[in-house]
Amino acid sequence: MSKVKFYYGDSVPLEMHKVRIVQKLNLPPIERRLEAMTEAGFNTFLLKNRDVFMDMLTDSGVNAMSDRQQAAMLEADDSYAGSETYTKLENKIEEIFGKKYFLPTHQGRACENIISQAFVTKGSIVPMNYHFTTTKAHIVLNGGTVEEIFEDEALNITSKHPFKGNMNIAKLKDLIETNGAEKIAFVRLEAGTNLIGGQPFAVENMKEVRKVCDEYGLMLVLDASLLADNLYFIKEREENCKDMSIREITREIADLSDLIYFSARKLGCARGGGICTNNEEIYLKMREYITLYEGFLTYGGMSVREMEAITIGLDETMDENMINQGPQFISYMTDQLLNRGVPVVTPAGGLGCHINAMEFVGHIPQSEYPAGALAAALYIVSGVRGMERGTLSEQRDEDGNETLSQMELVRLAMPRRVFTLSQVKYAVDRIAWLYENRHLISGLKFIDEPNVLRFFFGKLSTTTDWPSQLVAKFREDFGESL
Ligand SMILES: *Cc1c(COP(=O)(O)O)cnc(C)c1O
Repeated sequence: MSKVKFYYGDSVPLEMHKVRIVQKLNLPPIERRLEAMTEAGFNTFLLKNRDVFMDMLTDSGVNAMSDRQQAAMLEADDSYAGSETYTKLENKIEEIFGKKYFLPTHQGRACENIISQAFVTKGSIVPMNYHFTTTKAHIVLNGGTVEEIFEDEALNITSKHPFKGNMNIAKLKDLIETNGAEKIAFVRLEAGTNLIGGQPFAVENMKEVRKVCDEYGLMLVLDASLLADNLYFIKEREENCKDMSIREITREIADLSDLIYFSARKLGCARGGGICTNNEEIYLKMREYITLYEGFLTYGGMSVREMEAITIGLDETMDENMINQGPQFISYMTDQLLNRGVPVVTPAGGLGCHINAMEFVGHIPQSEYPAGALAAALYIVSGVRGMERGTLSEQRDEDGNETLSQMELVRLAMPRRVFTLSQVKYAVDRIAWLYENRHLISGLKFIDEPNVLRFFFGKLSTTTDWPSQLVAKFREDFGESL
């Protein structure tokens, strides 16, 4: 373990890297931030990056790259077929995951498109620990349905459970027995479950899922997009894996999977994706779709430079000192917010810190999008851009009624190795201030509501003129400060 104990003062996560390329940031004054938020229709997706100080919208495609990755990108072999770069990536996949067949794609959802087209048919059921937005969309598009069979603890916002991403084995068996194994397209496990706060599953749990799959002859698919965080948590929290290396844990997980896919926008800190397996039959079933949707088999829509970066990125992911930075910063941020009484999802997961808007702004009804309002308010008072994960991200039902979300979260993603601890402290400070002034925040209403994926492009306005009151209070407390 690289955890360094401090002799004086608090223990803080210590960066095991140094910064050698930087990008200048802007922090516009609060009056401009209010203007920018208004122009963006109170939707953080529509902000321009030039108006954003800390971009905590996502961890996708925005993780910092290493010097080795940058150097490798200069050595790329640009050829349509038979590229040496592809062979390097294919070999690295086999070295790490022990899978000999590799299919390249342009990003994670492209893998989901191909897997769903190959294995999901009308009436198919796909059991999973939790869904991801694009995963579900592709399964549904092919006529299938998603069944989430998580432990009860998964939706418990304040919990001490170390593995909230575990699958409930009894419910899985029950689902298969009730519907018949022939209805199940495959069983899907998602590492670092994205939508419930980056929560991991345990190797122990995966072994039990494997047993069920063997019993019923089902294929086990691993979504490894957020595997890096999950590996760190297994090493930290799972007794049986304490003495295993990250490589050994990865191999154990890979050996339990029939098929692994990942978004290299997250895993490997570059941009791309891929699918791997040892089963020739399922490989052949997917292969034709790669050339149809992605590109030739030796690039799959990726640039050779990105493939070089992924090869190195995957190798570096096997270093505990690399994968612990994200979760340790998130844990630090979560603890600091808890100390100030701010309601956050616990235990701290991977991916980001999640604020519980249902409690933070409990006075705003769900029909007025509390998490959306909180994300907008946070940007106005800090320049920090987070993402709404609540009712705004849901779709209305056929009758046009709101589908109220089970959780109202503001996700503050922690792109890996991007922010410094002082920046995290700044975000904590402004969130804590906002919490003390939470009564000033009110709701949002749509002025332009798209029918599909409304959270991406929808424009809203405020139900009262609460943003100006927030700005006035900010000036009162902070004076001329940005
Ligand atoms: C991001 C993500 C995806 C989709 O990957 P993209 O590269 O954004 O298409 C799929 N599954 C999980 C768990 C993810 O986090």
